[in-house]
Amino acid sequence: ATMPPLLSAIATAGRHGVLVKSAVVMERLGQVDAVALDKTGTLTAGTPQLTAVRPLPGPGWTEETLLTLAAAAEHGSEHPLARAIVAAARARGLSLPAAEEFAATPGTGVRATVDGTRIAVGAPARLLPAGHPAATRAGALVAELEEAGHTAVLVLAAGVPAGVLGIADRQRPDAAATVARLETLTGRTPMLVTGDNPRAAARLAAAVGITDVRAGLLPQDKAAAVRAQEAAGRRVLVVGDGVNDAPALAAAHTGIAMGRAGSDLAVDTADAVVVRDELAAVPAVIALSREARRLVV
Ligand code: ADP
Ligand code: MG
Repeated sequence: ATMPPLLSAIATAGRHGVLVKSAVVMERLGQVDAVALDKTGTLTAGTPQLTAVRPLPGPGWTEETLLTLAAAAEHGSEHPLARAIVAAARARGLSLPAAEEFAATPGTGVRATVDGTRIAVGAPARLLPAGHPAATRAGALVAELEEAGHTAVLVLAAGVPAGVLGIADRQRPDAAATVARLETLTGRTPMLVTGDNPRAAARLAAAVGITDVRAGLLPQDKAAAVRAQEAAGRRVLVVGDGVNDAPALAAAHTGIAMGRAGSDLAVDTADAVVVRDELAAVPAVIALSREARRLVV
């Protein structure tokens, strides 16, 4: 039997490891003329490693106590940075106390009570208390790690900086080639939209060939960046993996989630899901859509 071209394209996309949720989506993929890419988990592999543990002078902070508190607080988070922190604590044989009153804020970090102390772990730009004596010292550690291209994560205990963790992720092997292919397909350089710090974002962008970088964004800022492009008449494809990408995926003309390590919310919100872990599948399905649309007359 001959299948309609769009359905046949969905089957082919499936063989390439991309789940396209409907024929309408299959058709829309070929219409995109701008792309916004998330950083962590999308352009990077999404398996970051802990690279530094820097306790601040304080009430008995050591590498072990700092990492134990941070990992206990992060235990309930599915964020790649949280997984890196918990895995590193386990690898050092630290036993993690149970956390209470856990709360995660997308694009910012987590809060929890550990051993009776309120702990916050997350983006220094959002958590660093201005004017606190320990803030200057923490800020210097953050700058040092970020200059080196790492993501710095601040740990607060009872509102006071206790230390800084450094985390780094590898760029995906197919990131640069995918950026180049997307540029060819859409006639426009993809944009990087990330919640991570501007220094680490600029470093990765340069390595993969992106010049349009928007860093330090909250989830709603990512969506606003997409809407601004669409208001200028562009049909924007958003590719992301995190809870923080859901508003942008929803605002996009078409949204694709990196599904292997992606959050459930991103996978549910997206129009298509890359189930095999290859970023190169994204331009492949755009080309597939264009081919199918050529056959639909
Ligand atoms: P990206 O846009 O690169 O995927 P996110 O928006 O998920 O990044 O996160 C932005 C920043 O917020 C991170 O770089 C980190 O500083 C902070 N952050 C978010 N969630 C967490 C978490 N669970 N633990 C630590 N930091 C976090
Ligand atoms: Mg991400």
